Amino acid sequence: MTINNIKKLNIYRKIINLYSKMENRKILKSGEFLINEIDSKDIFIPEEFNDEQKMIAQTCSDFLQAEVYSNIAKVDTPDREFMKNTLKKSGQLGLLGISIPEEYGGFGQSFVTQMLVSEIVGAGYSFSVAFMAHCGIGTLPIMYYGNEEQRQKYVTKLATGEFVGAYCLTEPGAGSDANAGKTNAKLSEDGKYYILNGQKMWITNAGFADVQTVFAKIDNDRVLSAFIVERNFPGVVVNPDEHKLGIKGSSTAQIFYNDVKVPVENLLGKRGEGFRIALSILHMGRIKLGSNVLGAAKKDIIDSVKYANERKQFGVAISTFGAIKHKLAEQVIKTFSIESAIYRVSKDIDDLMDKYKTEGCDKGKASIDAISHYAVEAAILKVYGSEVLNYVIDETLQIHGGMGYSAELDVEKGYRDSRINRIFEGTNEINRLLVTDTAMKRAMKGDFDLFGEAEKIYSNLDKITDGKVAGESYYQEKQRIVKNFKKAVLLLIHSASKHFDKKFVEEQEIMNSLAEMIMETYVSESLALRVEKIEGMKGISAIPVYKDILDVNIYDAAEKVRKAAHDAIYSYASASDATKLVKAIGILTAVPGINVKDARRRIAAKLIEDNTYKF
Ligand SMILES: Cc1cc2nc3c(=O)[nH]c(=O)nc-3n(C[C@H](O)[C@H](O)[C@H](O)COP(=O)(O)OP(=O)(O)OC[C@H]3O[C@@H](n4cnc5c(N)ncnc54)[C@H](O)[C@@H]3O)c2cc1C
Repeated sequence: MTINNIKKLNIYRKIINLYSKMENRKILKSGEFLINEIDSKDIFIPEEFNDEQKMIAQTCSDFLQAEVYSNIAKVDTPDREFMKNTLKKSGQLGLLGISIPEEYGGFGQSFVTQMLVSEIVGAGYSFSVAFMAHCGIGTLPIMYYGNEEQRQKYVTKLATGEFVGAYCLTEPGAGSDANAGKTNAKLSEDGKYYILNGQKMWITNAGFADVQTVFAKIDNDRVLSAFIVERNFPGVVVNPDEHKLGIKGSSTAQIFYNDVKVPVENLLGKRGEGFRIALSILHMGRIKLGSNVLGAAKKDIIDSVKYANERKQFGVAISTFGAIKHKLAEQVIKTFSIESAIYRVSKDIDDLMDKYKTEGCDKGKASIDAISHYAVEAAILKVYGSEVLNYVIDETLQIHGGMGYSAELDVEKGYRDSRINRIFEGTNEINRLLVTDTAMKRAMKGDFDLFGEAEKIYSNLDKITDGKVAGESYYQEKQRIVKNFKKAVLLLIHSASKHFDKKFVEEQEIMNSLAEMIMETYVSESLALRVEKIEGMKGISAIPVYKDILDVNIYDAAEKVRKAAHDAIYSYASASDATKLVKAIGILTAVPGINVKDARRRIAAKLIEDNTYKF
């Protein structure tokens, strides 16, 4: 598919949008899922991708095939020219403009479509990192926060690949503590320029990016401002690429700014707005990282099953062994589960964007405000997704035995490449803290009554039941169990807030236990709603394997929620409180025993028969 085809498809999209806006979907605010439920008809699931989205996905796959997999050795080599040219080729096909409105040279696709593109490209090793950095953190700060002149000058060229973009926040002394940067800007005497001095490090696409969003403090400001800096401005010096464990083809380097004269019109947003811009862009980056790692995980599963079907030991294919089936099934369960959460929140973002636009909001602002709103879910996708990928590729390598350890196969590259996802876009430690902290902050702001609900549950601590009703259906049972997980979260939030008061947020281990519980709850709920919706769409006969995935997920999630709750409770509660809380958690995380061995075998059987990922 070419640019013209994408343009034609945009016309269909407008018609489809017109109809979809007529749907009356219930959407929850960020974190509100902790106290409210939605119906399966209210979530978007990947089984609902339209033809346009499938064609765009196919174009991305074809591109990877033609330009990435056929040059795989170069993709894993620090070759700036090759990576820059490959990015430009994807621009010629229209893939760099997917998130950019048409008036700035892009295709203004929905957030769901953007996430789908990110998923497919996620299977592209180092290219995926260069692509995502360009399309996301490299381009969108200017799209979302730039004025009309800046958008026309830069975004139109970034959308086509004429320019490549980079995002320069991290410094030697400012990593997770991003506002601690020392890069400084001073207004020149004639008032025409900011004179920029400082150093950035770990900058993706540094080796060839034409345009950089650079964060720096003006004079002695407490907070950052943001500037658009061109690589050709005198005084911009880019170091050679870093030697890295993985993503070796992605250019990562330090950049120095030595008395760089940045025209005043290149201030992005207002003075002092840089930190807010940086954080909002990171929300966007981490949510897209969620779908990006999904694509990599699916490719790894395909590699796993193909090898397991081919490789013979003891006279049979290794895919016939129970231990291997267990691994294959687990790879699918985790991947399918996180996928459910990814597209659920993507559509919520689309709907919120539409709402903001209807209220008269500028397209760029509507997009970033909607994305930033879903900060709790963004952090969940980032942490859960990157850890699913690490699990999946680790098992892919294991299934390959010695060959998995050999640089001859892509598996070894995938293993090395996957590790970065737990570090950039905010480390998983920082994002785990954000899951709990942001949910509580949003509640305190009045978005939803988390603390009121938590208090209600806690005040009935002695009377907690599992809520089981006679004759409940399969899905009613799953919903009840997920609701019980939520009650477990609320119990802990109430009891820990009471115990630690204002110091609660400093208790990182407790915050992390809660994050674990919240993440499992959101992912299980998204999966349960998806499976129910698939049954509504495709009928009961399509369902057994999805029910197996859901059964095992819930069975495992209950164990994780219980363990995380116990870890927290025994770390602060008095003996008598701990006894009561542990008893309640036991009731709230009770799930029916299932034959997980057979369920996993059925999941593996489908994968083995398909010899590819078709879930
Ligand atoms: C390959 C690569 C590409 C990158 N691309 C870019 C880019 O394009 N642009 C850009 O600006 N940056 C980029 N980065 C930087 C990246 O975002 C940072 O590395 C990351 O934010 C972590 O910062 P740090 O490395 O200084 O680690 P530190 O912040 O020093 O963290 C070290 C450890 O301490 C933990 N830690 C830190 N603070 C806390 C806390 N408050 N509570 C609990 N634990 C904490 C961290 O989780 C981590 O485990 C890239 C990095 C790499 C490796």
